[in-house]
Amino acid sequence: MTARETNWAGNVVYRAARVARPRSVSEARELVAVPGRVRAVGTGHSFNRIADTPGVLISLADLPPVIDIEPGGAAVTVAGGVRFGELTGRLNAAGYALPSLASLPHLSVAGAVATATHGSGDAHGNLATIVSGLELITADGDVRTLRRDTGGEEFRGSVVGLGSLGLVTALTLDLVPAFSVRQYVYQGLPTAMLQSHFDEIFSSAYSVSVFTNWQGDRHSQLWLKIRDDERDGWRPAPRWMDATLADRQVHPIPGGDPGHATEQLGVPGPWHERLPHFRVEFTPSSGQELQSEYLVPRQMAAGAFDALASLASLLAPVVQIAEIRTVAPDDLWLSPSYQRDTVALHFTWIKDMAAVTPVIAAMEHLLTPLGARPHWAKVFGMPPHVVRALYPRSAGFRDLLGRYDPDGKFRNGFIDKYFPARAD
Ligand SMILES: Cc1cc2nc3c(=O)[nH]c(=O)nc-3n(C[C@H](O)[C@H](O)[C@H](O)COP(=O)(O)OP(=O)(O)OC[C@H]3O[C@@H](n4cnc5c(N)ncnc54)[C@H](O)[C@@H]3O)c2cc1C
Repeated sequence: MTARETNWAGNVVYRAARVARPRSVSEARELVAVPGRVRAVGTGHSFNRIADTPGVLISLADLPPVIDIEPGGAAVTVAGGVRFGELTGRLNAAGYALPSLASLPHLSVAGAVATATHGSGDAHGNLATIVSGLELITADGDVRTLRRDTGGEEFRGSVVGLGSLGLVTALTLDLVPAFSVRQYVYQGLPTAMLQSHFDEIFSSAYSVSVFTNWQGDRHSQLWLKIRDDERDGWRPAPRWMDATLADRQVHPIPGGDPGHATEQLGVPGPWHERLPHFRVEFTPSSGQELQSEYLVPRQMAAGAFDALASLASLLAPVVQIAEIRTVAPDDLWLSPSYQRDTVALHFTWIKDMAAVTPVIAAMEHLLTPLGARPHWAKVFGMPPHVVRALYPRSAGFRDLLGRYDPDGKFRNGFIDKYFPARAD
């Protein structure tokens, strides 16, 4: 967050009376015990009011930055305020990795998990799927631990908790052995080629992204992140799928500084310096943007592409860049990839809500019938009953909220809107 009063993009001014920064779990418990509303805030990278509260915002960034790798390396436990940028270098130095990362290393782990933040890759679920344990301070001030191996449906309902079940003070994450990645970019991928060869393109690398502005008959960039150990000696063809291999480093947004992007041109590097699109040492932009994202069932991708192409003239003045990624299915109740292979359609907009709002409405009009689920942390306009209907377990999540937080201590306007308290 640039300042505690606003989110990172500056489009949300938090209503919170103040921001508290406890230095220990017991201090955090005291804050929860005080009557009134509270809510956790991570690094403030969400674009809507999901992290807001009329009471006290609690940042866990000043908790001791625990990063505790299990002997044997199957898992790591991190404190509730740790950011990916702090974690990944430590893991790599110890010989371990996370299987997937978001485009940006600046996000907090707890905040990313709470909203089912994702990277790209046919074989990887979103970042919440690697959580095997959660420790949280619940509304009664207790510290509760939930584990994947014993927690059953309650665990699966709690991981993507939208910040509403309590303050997450620690998370345990699955690890894999560290690996090396080479990143290549192709330019000018024909839109028809993406339609006809979608599976081939998205299964061609460990992680694949297509960047586009949905104008014309070519997508601007195809990013392939290839694991060294999966493609011994492999080198990219100068032309593939009628696209051209870039011979210099590029930025996904036209005019963006290519030096801010993670290294390309096939230079091998550790997983954490290649899986994100942006380097940790640079802020990817000045926050002059808004974002939306819709996650559609993979079998609906072709229809979604046609829908977006039909909106090209509406999109042109407001889209800075859009991105297409894939996410594997999972069983976390509020995950937008819940029980379905997913294609994620992301939009980085200009920072002009008035101009963007009608375009979002037009897009939702076409994408909702395809089963598009909006990213919880980004800008969307779908009516609450439509959003709830997209999640088979939304009623179960409302029950969970009622049990964990009967007096609504962690509730805010966002949660009241999409998951109103039961009348009884
Ligand atoms: C430049 C940029 C790039 C992005 N790239 C991606 C991407 O590649 N993929 C993707 O899916 N999304 C992406 N996002 C969205 C981002 O991942 C989400 O907004 C994510 O929630 C941000 O984490 P945060 O720590 O900033 O959370 P915040 O915005 O601070 O909070 C989000 C939610 O998490 C809750 N929360 C935070 N910390 C805790 C805690 N300790 N305990 C309980 N609840 C907590 C909050 O209450 C709130 O409900 C991007 C956003 C930006 C600005």
